[in-house]
Amino acid sequence: MNNTLAPESGTNGHKHTSTVMEVRKPSAHLMIEPRAAIEDNIYQILLNVGENPERDGLQRTPHRVAKMYEELLEGYAQDVTSIINGAMFDVEYGEDEMVVVADIEYGSMCEHHMLPFTGKAHVAYIPGEKVVGLSKIPRIVDMFARRLQVQERLTNEITDALESAIKPKGVIVLLEGQHSCASLRGVKKHGVNMMTTAKRGVFKTDTQLRGEFFRMIGK
Ligand SMILES: [Zn+2]
Repeated sequence: MNNTLAPESGTNGHKHTSTVMEVRKPSAHLMIEPRAAIEDNIYQILLNVGENPERDGLQRTPHRVAKMYEELLEGYAQDVTSIINGAMFDVEYGEDEMVVVADIEYGSMCEHHMLPFTGKAHVAYIPGEKVVGLSKIPRIVDMFARRLQVQERLTNEITDALESAIKPKGVIVLLEGQHSCASLRGVKKHGVNMMTTAKRGVFKTDTQLRGEFFRMIGK
C-alpha cells in the first residue's frame, strides 16, 4: 500500500497549523513558564530515579506536583498589609491583658529537603492601641508557612510581622513542628515535636506573662 502519511510541513512550503493542546491558566504568581519548567523537571526526576514517567499512574504526576508547589509555596506572592487589609479595631480591653490565638494548624516545607513539616502555632499579644481581626493571625501564619522555611525562621518572621503590623506592647509565638525529613530519613525519630519560640516587647522581660501564656496554651 502506498498509503503514506502526509508530511507535517509540506514540501510545497505550507506550514502546518499548530493546535493548542492545552490552555494553561497562569496563576498570579507563577506564570506559564515556571509551571511548565517545574513539570519538565519533575519528569526528569522520575526518569532519573529509574521510573517510567509515561506509565499510567505517573503521566500526570509532573502536572500535579507543579500545581501542588504553587499551592504550598503561594506565600511568596502574599504580603502582610494586604492580608490585614485595615482590619484593626479599637476595642475596650483590660490593661495589659493578652489576646491568645492557640492551635493554629500550619503546613510548611523545609528548605533543606523540600519535605513538609506540620504542626501548630500559638500566638499571644498584649494590644497597644488596637486589636487585629481574629482571622488575620492564622492567615499571617499561613503566608510565612507557605514558603520554603526552617521552623526557627518561620517563628521569627511571624513574630516580627505581628509586631510591626499590630504594634502591640508585646507578642509571643510558640511553634510546634513535626518534620518529615527527620522521620523519613536517617534519624527515623517519629513523632518528635520541635518547639520554637520568639518574643518581643513585654514578653521578653516579663516571665510571669510568659508563664501565663504557656499555661493558657497548655504547655
Ligand atoms: Zn529538612
